[in-house]
Amino acid sequence: MSMYWDQLTTKNFLEEIVGRVDTAILPIGSIEAHGQHCPLGTDNMAPAYFAAQLEKIYRDRILILPPVAYGYTPDLSVWPGSLSISASVLQQYVQEIGQGVVKWGINNLILLNGHGGNIGALQAAMDAIVQEPVRVVMINWWLDYSTQILTITRGQGHAGEDETSVMLKVAPEWVHMEHASFNPFRPRYRIKGPGISDKRLRNATTGDGRSATKEKGEKIVELIVKELAVLLERLWSDDLFERTDNG
Ligand SMILES: [Zn+2]
Repeated sequence: MSMYWDQLTTKNFLEEIVGRVDTAILPIGSIEAHGQHCPLGTDNMAPAYFAAQLEKIYRDRILILPPVAYGYTPDLSVWPGSLSISASVLQQYVQEIGQGVVKWGINNLILLNGHGGNIGALQAAMDAIVQEPVRVVMINWWLDYSTQILTITRGQGHAGEDETSVMLKVAPEWVHMEHASFNPFRPRYRIKGPGISDKRLRNATTGDGRSATKEKGEKIVELIVKELAVLLERLWSDDLFERTDNG
């Protein structure tokens, strides 16, 4: 039996899911320019791929929800093909999906996010969802596993070395490396204002997309899937804290 929520019948759900499977993954992304070389759906394709690998490993224990494909991306909305929805809409949408799944016995929900601009809205959605008896984890793969990723790539970035490498593994048919670019400008602060985005996101890129390779992408995908498996095991064994001596 597939563990994609939308491929089950209501009869499957009653007989095989309710009371047995308590963990679901919600992939969340964005439709936006990714350099001149990666597809507009990059932020959807990467989380969907990670989720698909997990579905193969934990077929009896997790469900994959239909993804939330539209995100909050005002900074990139000037680029042809980008589609941004407001943060409040995204928050409300994810919140209601989260509250909905709890009703069907999900008590571990993973928001597997592919887009940085979504983070604020998702944080707020999480606070609302956990009014119900459920644990919600947000994973931003390029941030949460940054230290490990930087053992594989020299840098990271939007349509940069790490994300482009992942796309060369996940959906090589949609990547056009001949149009990849390097943006040398990195802001010193978390800052917005006139002209800032143009520079920060020159060519809709941060970092260096040119140095991406499929081999690096394979390593990153392997690492992320392994880390997500660790997360699942820790949720199930309630091993969610580590001790620290230095604050
Ligand atoms: Zn992206």
